Amino acid sequence: MTAKYIPEPFRIKSVEPIKILTPAEREQKLRTACYNMFHLAGEDCYIDLLTDSGTGAMSVHQWASIMEGDEAYAGAKSYFKLMESAKDVFGYDFIQPVHQGRAAEKVLMPLLLSEGKFAISNLFFDTTRAHVILSGGRPLDCVGELAKKPKQRAPFKGNMDIAKMEETIRQYGLQNIGVVVLTVTNNAAGGQPVSMQNVRDVAAVCRRYGIPLCIDAARFAENAYFIKRDEPGYSDKSIKEITREMFGLADMFTLSAKKDGIVNIGGLVGVKDKNSSIIAGIKVNVINNEGFITYGGLAGRDLEALAVGLQEVCDEHYLRYRVGQIEYVGARLDEAGIAYQSPVGGHGVFIDAAEMFPHIAYTEFPAHTLAVELYRRGGIRCCDIGSFMLGNDPDTGEQLKAEFEFTRLAIPRRVYTQAHLDYVVDTIIKIKEDAKNIRRGYRIIWEPDLMRHFQAHLEPII
Ligand SMILES: *Cc1c(COP(=O)(O)O)cnc(C)c1O
Repeated sequence: MTAKYIPEPFRIKSVEPIKILTPAEREQKLRTACYNMFHLAGEDCYIDLLTDSGTGAMSVHQWASIMEGDEAYAGAKSYFKLMESAKDVFGYDFIQPVHQGRAAEKVLMPLLLSEGKFAISNLFFDTTRAHVILSGGRPLDCVGELAKKPKQRAPFKGNMDIAKMEETIRQYGLQNIGVVVLTVTNNAAGGQPVSMQNVRDVAAVCRRYGIPLCIDAARFAENAYFIKRDEPGYSDKSIKEITREMFGLADMFTLSAKKDGIVNIGGLVGVKDKNSSIIAGIKVNVINNEGFITYGGLAGRDLEALAVGLQEVCDEHYLRYRVGQIEYVGARLDEAGIAYQSPVGGHGVFIDAAEMFPHIAYTEFPAHTLAVELYRRGGIRCCDIGSFMLGNDPDTGEQLKAEFEFTRLAIPRRVYTQAHLDYVVDTIIKIKEDAKNIRRGYRIIWEPDLMRHFQAHLEPII
């Protein structure tokens, strides 16, 4: 298969200059950043693939709506516009804006979990995992075995393993399970989608046991696009119809709008049933942590941009280009024989760094090693989704071994061109050719207790 690029369904109206530093300057920047990609300055990165979160380009319609922002403290016009848009997309009665995804988790998780409780997921995203732990609970992952085989191409590798989920419920005791979180797409497994059948099966188990089902919805539209394209019976349904069916099977959702909301800041909490007793608790937590319920930590203009973004992300021409762009990178990596979580997911490519550096142990963070190398050689910023991100066991303090050692190239929405992506792939190919000479990884010289990858200081092992 030769790599094919699907042309952008938009043209460029405003440009943002970027520059590339010299190799010596980049080496210096790495040292000052303590080899942590999050400590590099954005303007020192030529191509920034650290995350697809909040890094998308807004449309002319979103920028125009920003001028319409109503900044009233309570009951702003922009709030009602967002409610109308979000209810149209998700079909839920209760929608609460918050400032981003983790704020939604902070507001919701303590209402479902406490000391001694457990939460089950098809793989927790790092902030969701942290909020489970901060609420006193413990996270349990039940992703299907397919997700653990990066080379095995299959649709819907993000699915929950239903048998494992039921076994986990029995093992930990039904009364101790506070919530089931279904992450769509499954970010930590490489942006792999979850099928509608799997959502249906998970929902049936939750209903049978009376456990609330929460969708971690950051990439709901990309997931809906995969269902439309790859799941029998959905090719004639619209993205919104698929989204409403998916969310209709769950009880609640948390959403980072910085992904499929195509905004730079924003999030939502949703509850399907307007009579649910959890809504009162959500409102109290929002007022205490985020602000009044009609703005939830956002400015009126942010609510406007999100109302428009939620509609734009459901456009199939956009989604075809979006997923097509990621598939283009995957096809070029195939040609070069570079392993990644395949097929590619919705928002990026997850390179199998354990395969590229088989001689570097998980305790030396092979995926982080590749991330550092991409900056060193190409000014490209990306990050580890592996043992470095996973961190230590909260009870024993020991380094955990991740299922995967992925280096994530997250592609911002509507930002980079084909030539940018070619440059990234060419740089990876050069690193692969030189992989044997990259002998050792990194050691942590300082780390905080939780979510250490954002802040830790590292040094190369020589
Ligand atoms: C980004 C993300 C979050 C957290 O959202 P923020 O907006 O970064 O706080 C939660 N879950 C998933 C799956 C995500 O991708």
